[in-house]
Amino acid sequence: MLFEKHLGVIDREAAQLCAVSDALWDNPELALGEYAAAELITDLMERYGFTVERGVGGIPTAFTATFGSGSPHLGVLAEYDGLPSMSQEAGIAEKKSIPGRDTNHGCGHNLFAGGSIGAVLAVKDYIEATGKGRITLFGCPGEEGGGGKVFMAREGVFKGVDSVVSWHPERMYMVRTRPSLANVKVNYAFEGIAAHAGGAPHKGRSALDAVELMNIGANFLREHMELTSRVHYAILDAGGVAPNMVQSHAVVQYLIRAVDMEAVRELHARIDRIAQGAALMTDTTFTSRVVSAYADLITIPTLQATANEAMHDIPLPVPTEEELEYAKALQATFRLTQEEKLLPPLATVVKDPAPPVAHGGSTDTADVSWNCPTVQMHIGTWAVGTPGHSWQSTSQCKASYAKKAMLYAGKAVAGTVMRLLENPALIEKAWEEHKAKVGDGYVCGLPADLEPEILPRSEK
Ligand SMILES: [Zn+2]
Repeated sequence: MLFEKHLGVIDREAAQLCAVSDALWDNPELALGEYAAAELITDLMERYGFTVERGVGGIPTAFTATFGSGSPHLGVLAEYDGLPSMSQEAGIAEKKSIPGRDTNHGCGHNLFAGGSIGAVLAVKDYIEATGKGRITLFGCPGEEGGGGKVFMAREGVFKGVDSVVSWHPERMYMVRTRPSLANVKVNYAFEGIAAHAGGAPHKGRSALDAVELMNIGANFLREHMELTSRVHYAILDAGGVAPNMVQSHAVVQYLIRAVDMEAVRELHARIDRIAQGAALMTDTTFTSRVVSAYADLITIPTLQATANEAMHDIPLPVPTEEELEYAKALQATFRLTQEEKLLPPLATVVKDPAPPVAHGGSTDTADVSWNCPTVQMHIGTWAVGTPGHSWQSTSQCKASYAKKAMLYAGKAVAGTVMRLLENPALIEKAWEEHKAKVGDGYVCGLPADLEPEILPRSEK
């Protein structure tokens, strides 16, 4: 195993890394309100000798922790936000919520943080020994809907970084090859005239009618857009609960996804025109406001190959009988595909990277990937087939095998970073691939005046 000496740091610090992961699980916080998590991690990074900057990108719970001052400058991402409506006890194979708790870690971001801290500790050991390079742990809050990295990218936090290596809890071990869709989320607020729906309907102009007609227009649009595009909506305000009123105010939110930001802009313009049509038809007016926007993920074959090599070089965790039993018991609570049924309950091999296939989702790591070459790894912290954002994934985020996978993730990330530091030609090649894909460069999809929706510090 390459860099075995430096990767050994992760084994030596395992108890501390697991303690961080468990502490985050025990005190879960929502997106852009991760005050305790950010404090815990930044204090720890200072004790480990990193230089910490808190509140980067205008977000109180975002941070950077850097070691070394040389070049190349590599980055590792950490996430630490929980999810709402995820209350669940750890380590059991039945749905059982924790009384008085709503938020919990259903996406494994507690593990994400622990593994990434381990990675930068191993890289620090390498930098101390060789004098090569610089490493930054980017504390990225608000992944669950907050778009934290997009705001950080808009403020230039990832500018000047030579490459970013990241990972995410998953059900398998594999370098991520699939891109993600760019998107924009827009609120359309219609204004009409209130009137008695029975007594004076001719005097009323219905904002709710406008929302309904807009949705019908969008339904017809779906036949005439790219197969890879997606348009979803939610009515945020239907104008009230009284049917004997003409609703004078209504708001619908559109989430518009497409393969890249340009395609999103085109589709967004078409949806705008549908809103105009709906307003014309109903004699109402509307305003629209962008509330979030994600880029599409730029994938870099050179970094994927480097990460794949590192993953194959590091021995995978071996599950115990007890761990397999627990994973099997969990699997009995959800549907497995035919393919999943043929696999052992916990992943035991590193899969070769799959050919990149279209995927309907989006990620805020995409905005990092527009600023510098970026690679992500899927790490098998959960039983095969586990649905993400579920009570089953939440239950497993404190499991012994999840922690073993987390430590492996730290080594795989560090192994990739150290390969890049050792061989800067790989970084040069990654930049060539990056430049060929991003063209004129990154334009953040967020309006310049849009502020992140930072949660207040909760009183304890
Ligand atoms: Zn996640």
